[in-house]
Amino acid sequence: THFGFKTVEEEKKVELVAEVFHSVAAKYDVMNDVLSMGIHRIWKRFTIDCSGIRHGQKVLDLAGGTGDLTAKFSRIVGQEGHVVLADINDSMLKVGRSKLRDLGIEGNVEYVQANAEELPFPDNHFDLVTIAFGLRNVTDKDKALASIYRVLKPGGRLLVLEFSKPIYKPVSKFYDFYSFNILPKLGKLIANDSESYQYLAESIRMHPNQESLKEMMENVGFEGTEFFNLSAGIVALHRGYKY
Ligand code: SAM
Repeated sequence: THFGFKTVEEEKKVELVAEVFHSVAAKYDVMNDVLSMGIHRIWKRFTIDCSGIRHGQKVLDLAGGTGDLTAKFSRIVGQEGHVVLADINDSMLKVGRSKLRDLGIEGNVEYVQANAEELPFPDNHFDLVTIAFGLRNVTDKDKALASIYRVLKPGGRLLVLEFSKPIYKPVSKFYDFYSFNILPKLGKLIANDSESYQYLAESIRMHPNQESLKEMMENVGFEGTEFFNLSAGIVALHRGYKY
């Protein structure tokens, strides 16, 4: 609402998202590999390649979950740099922290439980913020984008990796079939949790398309905004700068 309160519908979404990620946390990585047939690794690699990140810089991996991007950034920024893995969900954070420790990633990574809509960081702090497959779960996306803009340094950039709208009809048809028929069944089979994967399909369908998200970024102040379609637009990477 205009007064900053959430409506009943919005409260319900917050609860549902919390339930979904508490429920999938333990099996999240396996499911990611199975459901995307390993392709999420390529999308994440592309994100790193577009990040322009360098040794010694400060990164916020927002909605970072089990920390795939954090692990890669931690290696690039080195011990002079700093990576914050922030997520609203403590089950996801716990899985992320223990995975990264097992990988020997320590020293330059901090774990913070935070809501993307109200980031608990100072103004003009990070060189890069990434949010991978996270924005569609956030209730007030405009508020989150404004909050991200605030914590970025001038010259800093935001990368949003997210499901988007397929650009070819046949891909779109196959993808709808996959999302609403195969995906919940695989979710049931592997994680015994068809509801969470039903939510995944619905949240993807509701998410703004490439042009709308670009416009939303521009509305909060991002400049030089562009997007790259990946896998025929099933996923898009948006990039914008704070000048
Ligand atoms: N970034 C990771 C990746 O690409 O594998 C995890 C993505 S996972 C699909 C989405 C994550 O967004 C979950 O860990 C969830 O807890 C987090 N999330 C949902 N709403 C959030 C919010 N309002 N603020 C911060 N994180 C949120």
